[in-house]
Amino acid sequence: MEMAEVLAAAQRIRGRADATPLLKSEALGARLGRELWLKMELMQPIGAFKLRGALNAIAGLPEGTAGVICCSTGNHGRAVAWAAREAGLRAVVCMSRLVPEAKVAAIRALGAEVQIHGASQDEAGVEAQRLEEAEGLVQIPPFDHPAVIAGQGTIGLEILTALPHLEALLVPLSGGGLAAGVALAAKTLNPGIKVWGVSMDRGAAMHESLAAGHPVPVTEVASLADSLGGGLGAQNRYSFALCRDLLDGTILVTEAQIYRAMQALYVEERLVTEGAAAVGIAALQSGQVPGTGPVATILTGRNTDMDLFSRVVSGQDIALEDYTVKGARYEP
Ligand SMILES: *Cc1c(COP(=O)(O)O)cnc(C)c1O
Repeated sequence: MEMAEVLAAAQRIRGRADATPLLKSEALGARLGRELWLKMELMQPIGAFKLRGALNAIAGLPEGTAGVICCSTGNHGRAVAWAAREAGLRAVVCMSRLVPEAKVAAIRALGAEVQIHGASQDEAGVEAQRLEEAEGLVQIPPFDHPAVIAGQGTIGLEILTALPHLEALLVPLSGGGLAAGVALAAKTLNPGIKVWGVSMDRGAAMHESLAAGHPVPVTEVASLADSLGGGLGAQNRYSFALCRDLLDGTILVTEAQIYRAMQALYVEERLVTEGAAAVGIAALQSGQVPGTGPVATILTGRNTDMDLFSRVVSGQDIALEDYTVKGARYEP
């Protein structure tokens, strides 16, 4: 992949999903003893950065495309639905019957068709494959696609254009589309910058795969950072190799550290974040980020369940499927 693809993506998404604020966090920065910047991707129209990649991928489709299809019930599904609506294209989102009604409704509200199939995301994926062929739809992958990676990379372009002196960048990491694009742009503009991928310590697909030297399957478990769950796909073509070549390393954070980071962002900055967005702050608070110079992290999204969020910020226990995060009130 080339920086030129990121620059082209920046042109394509201009005025729709770009130029989110870059906030200097006085309060948290002072607590952490480090100049700290927050890239506010949670202010995107769908509440998460994935709109950049989806808009760029859809903008690159040939004239006469019948429509788009994807399997994600989370931020990627919302992004594809929003971008397709804007382009006047049909959008189909496949999901299993286990997906909660609220998520189905949110995707439908963006004008996408919802196809409910099977009892797992894998079974829904098989149906997506069938519809892709039968109805001539184009699949928009959540991370392993050059146009998606280039779209997410525009975040790195915006951060480094505003802050060329940054010492380090902390990027929430799942399938690695975001980290790959951001690292490509950031290191093109400042080759000396350190770019760290940050994941939860349970089911960290990219971390495990980088350690193994190739994509490996992981067991998916419930996490406060639910947007960071899932594997890289056995047929991974782009995001694994880019993360291997461009990231300076990965940092893992515990559920308790994510919990405390969500509290810190709320109490110190009055920001509502989903767990996945708070992992960069969790890495800093747990003392895992080398260096003392200016650092930025990407607040990737705010699409948290509000009941869960209010339990976190009021210090209550959180029962995940197989694990309880012990409640504690925020102490700076
Ligand atoms: C998708 C997502 C990520 C991770 O992006 P990848 O490209 O899969 O690594 C991080 N945070 C949020 C909120 C997301 O929706």
